[in-house]
Amino acid sequence: MPLQFSNTCSRKVEEFEPRDPTARPIKMYTCGPTVYSRAHIGNFRAYVFEDLLQRHLELRGYKVHRVMNITDVDDKTIRGAREANVPLAKFTEQFKQAFFEDAKTLRIKRADEFPCATDQRYIDRMIEMISTLISKGLAYHADDKSVYFRIDKFPDYGRLAHFDLTQLQSTGRVKHDEYDKEHVGDFALWKASDEEDGDVKWDSPWGAGRPGWHIECSAMSTALLGDQIDIHCGGVDNIFPHHEAEIAQSEGVTGKKFVRYWLHCAHLLVDGQKMAKSLGNFYTVPDVLAKGYTGRELRYALVRVHYRVPLNFTWEGMNEARESLARIDEWLARLREVAGKANAEGTTTSPQRPITAFENALDDDLNISAALGFLFESIRETNRAMDQNEMDAHSAGAWLDWWKRINIVLDLESEAEMRIPAEVTKLAQQRENARHEKNWKRSDELREQISALGWDVRDAKDGPKLTRRSGSH
Ligand code: AMP
Ligand code: ZN
Repeated sequence: MPLQFSNTCSRKVEEFEPRDPTARPIKMYTCGPTVYSRAHIGNFRAYVFEDLLQRHLELRGYKVHRVMNITDVDDKTIRGAREANVPLAKFTEQFKQAFFEDAKTLRIKRADEFPCATDQRYIDRMIEMISTLISKGLAYHADDKSVYFRIDKFPDYGRLAHFDLTQLQSTGRVKHDEYDKEHVGDFALWKASDEEDGDVKWDSPWGAGRPGWHIECSAMSTALLGDQIDIHCGGVDNIFPHHEAEIAQSEGVTGKKFVRYWLHCAHLLVDGQKMAKSLGNFYTVPDVLAKGYTGRELRYALVRVHYRVPLNFTWEGMNEARESLARIDEWLARLREVAGKANAEGTTTSPQRPITAFENALDDDLNISAALGFLFESIRETNRAMDQNEMDAHSAGAWLDWWKRINIVLDLESEAEMRIPAEVTKLAQQRENARHEKNWKRSDELREQISALGWDVRDAKDGPKLTRRSGSH
């Protein structure tokens, strides 16, 4: 089966064909956190899904260039800073740091770039894009001094959300602050500065003001990834109006198709309702850790259900995650023991079938439930073989290699397994020094010593990387 994803735009499962079929990286943009408070685990469901997507693409041999923006200026951040009586940048900084900390706890791979909307480079880009939209008649400077996108002039508006514009018209003007708009669905590109914004404002051809939320993402994605990108993700609540508006703005400026594949994850729920800050029914990563769970357990609990299926968060679910991981840990420990025994007797059970089954399941629109099903089926079978002493050291090593490969995507190895002993770190440091002195003989000796302790050392661009060798425990 080819690699395929469900594209929100077509509402169909489509074969994945990157924009550039040569070896150049896939361009992926993911809407990041709005840093007005600590992100909750509902937000992290979206980020964990995006992490799974990136890792699977990489497992399939693609290089991925991923940008995740940080929304550090919008209505909520400004309100928060005002209430806390601190400058906006100071207010948002604490939540940016918290976000990176929590993402690390959940083992989410860092994006290549984390642009912040308040960076002058992107503010300039937003102003440039808005000017182009005005010159093309796609935006207008209203009497209230704000600039709005004119949705009537963009016939494709509503394509992503499958939204009928006439419905919008029939609602009429619903709020007095929409008074200056030509159409109730027109959205703000540039908001004229008002008292409540305090000193949060930038100069523009339309007077002092600040950007609307939607233009921030169009500016940051086109500035860093160019006019056209392969994959754009977010939670389903981003589809309308945010992503719809992004399409209108970006395509309005460039005249080119903005995104090839739109992928959206369903919500994390609590008692059947969306987990949301506004409903007060949320938990943060530290809340979950405070209950005695680990980041790995939470990662598993968030990743194990298909991204397009709503997932109800419960403590029971956390306990199930804990049990599943314990089974994986025990299985790996047994395999390592068997693999470590020289010339252990037994017959070979080949991991050939699950190798392809796991990856093929993920090829099918990231069908993680099926992929994990194969993992646990394999665990059952191999445990049975080990119970009956029917597994030789070579096969156990092959299973461990298989785990190593699928763990590139899952990243669920236990902390204890990943902890590098001080002795190994010291030897790796000595080897690094030997390499600097070009003493290759000594460097090789040290590699062997590290290897004898059960670790592999690989020289990456940013320094040596240590990984536990399969077959050692
Ligand atoms: P925000 O910080 O509100 O802009 O949201 C950041 C990301 O989290 C977006 O992609 C949202 O769609 C996503 N998100 C928000 N709430 C949930 C939830 N309960 N479940 C899954 N994703 C969510
Ligand atoms: Zn966005």
